[in-house]
Amino acid sequence: MIRVQKYGGSSLSTVEQIKEIAQGISESYKNGDQMIVILSAMGSTTNELQLLSKKICSTPSQREMDMLLSSGERISISLMSMALQNLGCKAISFTGSQAGILTTGDHNDATIKELKPIRVDESLKENKIVIIAGYQGVTPETKEITTLGRGGSDTTAVAFASHYNVNECEIYKDVNGIYSEDPKQNPKASFYEQISYDDLLKILYNGAGVLHHKSVEHAKKLNTKIRVMNINLNTEFHPAANNTMGTLVSF
Ligand code: ASP
Ligand code: MG
Repeated sequence: MIRVQKYGGSSLSTVEQIKEIAQGISESYKNGDQMIVILSAMGSTTNELQLLSKKICSTPSQREMDMLLSSGERISISLMSMALQNLGCKAISFTGSQAGILTTGDHNDATIKELKPIRVDESLKENKIVIIAGYQGVTPETKEITTLGRGGSDTTAVAFASHYNVNECEIYKDVNGIYSEDPKQNPKASFYEQISYDDLLKILYNGAGVLHHKSVEHAKKLNTKIRVMNINLNTEFHPAANNTMGTLVSF
């Protein structure tokens, strides 16, 4: 079975967390699952890169910002691939462009138009775990690197889940799933075991950051289910920790 999993930046803040996630992925792989893993940049890397650019100039070119910001995910994917290889798994990391993520040319806010994941297919055939940089792609006409807007790795994950027709796109976070409000701000926020694409989109358009809105729009269009789950690495924060199945997003 092909599985598509996405891990966010706060679950990838340290090398220890990367090793711990690699351990889980390697267990699934050794049980016979074909694994496609989409990663964000480690911790607050993307913010830090943004701050760096501001030290050079106040209005950097959007093209160069994409060049800069897309580098964050290269760090996490290469380290994850090394961690998996160290555990005796076959693994390979790809940038968005190598993974065949073709986007519009809108720098900093590109939309995925099509996937042509030739190298991903080849690697799966070779029984490799495929680690893909979220949040980025390439514009086929110009060969320019683009990013999908902040939080865009969710959209990368949904695009691959749709392409490979997986049962559920697995998105791992440091909260148990989707709440009516940010549970870190309001502990009384109610938890959803299931939520429709439209109800979730309303929450996201109101400013919640639990998922990238384009990921849910994409999932709705292609009828791809998303399951948002707790990665269970962060033991400090477990409201409603009885729920381990997370939230299912579907029609
Ligand atoms: N690293 C990017 C960001 O922080 C993309 C993502 O996290 O999904 O916005
Ligand atoms: Mg991030």
